[in-house]
Amino acid sequence: MTTPRIGFIGLGAMGAPMAMNLVKAGYAVTVFDLSPPAVNRLRDAGATAATTAREVGENSDVAITMLPRSAHVEAAVTGEYGLYRGLAKGAVHIDMSTIEPSASKRFAELAQENGLRMFDAPVGKSTAAAAAGVLTIMAGGDPAVVDECRPILDVMGEIVYHCGSEVGAGAAVKVVNNLVSGGILVVVAEAMGLGVKAGVRPEIMVEVLGATGAANWQLANTLAQKALKRDYEPGFAISLIHKDCGLGAQMAEDLKVPMPVSGLVKQQYEAAMAAGHAGLDWGGYLKVIEAAIGEDVAFGAA
Ligand code: NAD
Repeated sequence: MTTPRIGFIGLGAMGAPMAMNLVKAGYAVTVFDLSPPAVNRLRDAGATAATTAREVGENSDVAITMLPRSAHVEAAVTGEYGLYRGLAKGAVHIDMSTIEPSASKRFAELAQENGLRMFDAPVGKSTAAAAAGVLTIMAGGDPAVVDECRPILDVMGEIVYHCGSEVGAGAAVKVVNNLVSGGILVVVAEAMGLGVKAGVRPEIMVEVLGATGAANWQLANTLAQKALKRDYEPGFAISLIHKDCGLGAQMAEDLKVPMPVSGLVKQQYEAAMAAGHAGLDWGGYLKVIEAAIGEDVAFGAA
């Protein structure tokens, strides 16, 4: 296969650094986002700017979407100015957004009806990992198509897992992953609130927990590197972890799996949303704890 031309739609917190890495790796990349400044930043870095998703399709052999929800993916791929109108027969669509597996399957069917190939490949880790090109990628779909696109995925990720031959397998693993991640943050934040109420400094809790079996990524990164320093600039917004808990709840309902603890975790992010924190980084969930205990949970607060 000659070097494929790449399309990239969705240049947000994750998509922008991922697309940037593809440009740096020497691929010809055509980009589109509803936000013109986001497009301009990539154009300045060497990408070609498109004005519609369809135009992205017309200029690419492999097109990637990295959008918040399935409704956004639908808006980008369907319709007169959608990606699927622009892509030539046989081209590949890789959806890297975190969406419900049933929606991934729906897009795969739609792609097939349009003579296209499609697989899902959501990602794990953070915006920093996206910038460093070391994401964990969870692909689901025809292994031959995934393998064909592996060189492209390798630019953005450190490890590419093939989660199953059905489209949606990557999405299923990703939702499971985020139910775990979201639950850990809620438990850690709540316990730290208790420690603060008992008169203990967050600094010492971070140190001690980090040295025991209670150590976890959310404590060391989301909280210790950001929220406990009162940095709520969104890398991974509360609205997104709330969305992912909703995807888990929907999957659980569809598959008739009781998930009482995950249900409670979702309610906690619901509380954060209701308090107006949707746009904060997910560590901003600490504000819900602070409101409940009437004390600051932050470095230097005690
Ligand atoms: P984001 O909100 O920062 O960016 C989304 C971008 O999509 C925005 O620039 C928006 O303008 C654009 N957009 C929306 N609809 C569009 C359309 N129809 N056409 C073109 N552009 C459109 O979101 P993000 O943090 O980059 O997350 C993207 C996906 O990756 C989500 O599904 C999220 O759950 C997942 N994810 C995020 C992280 C993280 O740390 N942020 C980590 C892993 C996975």
